[in-house]
Amino acid sequence: MPTDVNGWVLHWNGPPIATNKSTQSILRGIQAYHMDNKGWSDIAYNFAVNQQGNVYELRGWDVKGAATSGRAPDGKRWNASSRAILFLIGEGQRPTFAALTEARKLIGMKPGKATPHQDASSTGTACPGPDLTEWARNFHPEPQQQDQPKEVPMTNAEAETKIAMFYKSILGHAPDSTGLQFWVDEVQDKGRTLGQVERAITNQALGKLRRDVEALQMLFKGHTADIDGLRALNKVGDGMTPDSAEVYADAVIDQIIERLES
Ligand SMILES: [Zn+2]
Repeated sequence: MPTDVNGWVLHWNGPPIATNKSTQSILRGIQAYHMDNKGWSDIAYNFAVNQQGNVYELRGWDVKGAATSGRAPDGKRWNASSRAILFLIGEGQRPTFAALTEARKLIGMKPGKATPHQDASSTGTACPGPDLTEWARNFHPEPQQQDQPKEVPMTNAEAETKIAMFYKSILGHAPDSTGLQFWVDEVQDKGRTLGQVERAITNQALGKLRRDVEALQMLFKGHTADIDGLRALNKVGDGMTPDSAEVYADAVIDQIIERLES
């Protein structure tokens, strides 16, 4: 990298980042896309910062990035005169206190102006989203903890409403009073976020479906159809065969996995 690097450009992912995947696997996916689809030598960014505040060295300090095409007002190419930071957020996601704090430390190691990608683009982009754009335009001030959106609901009634909604949408029925109380305690007393509760209920549903499918496969291996057995598994309606019941169960699992990943 030439010595006249004097700034930073901030980016986001665009599409929301899945919260159930490891940062390593997300970065590997972006790297594969940049190398296979864009034909670049490596992932385009110099660094990445995830929502936990972990900093990842990608191209690092001394290799020119590929994330910001075009030229700065001083005539230099953005990629040659700045280092690119990827925040692991996308549409509808806000940078955390930890992410901003650590990004600020990183910028502080080679102080320079941080430019939001949209201010560096001549073709127009929403990158890096409204929060980071405002933060960069304000000269990336020290973040305030209380700026962060609170995920923990204020009242038990609000928690109950949300949890009942998760049951309805994931399991298809309302919670019983024991289940409801359990999850309200997890949120109100143990500090679990609603997002974590939703994933836990989803994982339980997935586990049950997987066990059902395994039971179906066990039940009908080498046998002819026994529709009463299938009904006992609570999985099928009239006219379903073991094959179609299995396809149905697989499709439901796929839908839930898709929901989890979206
Ligand atoms: Zn960008």
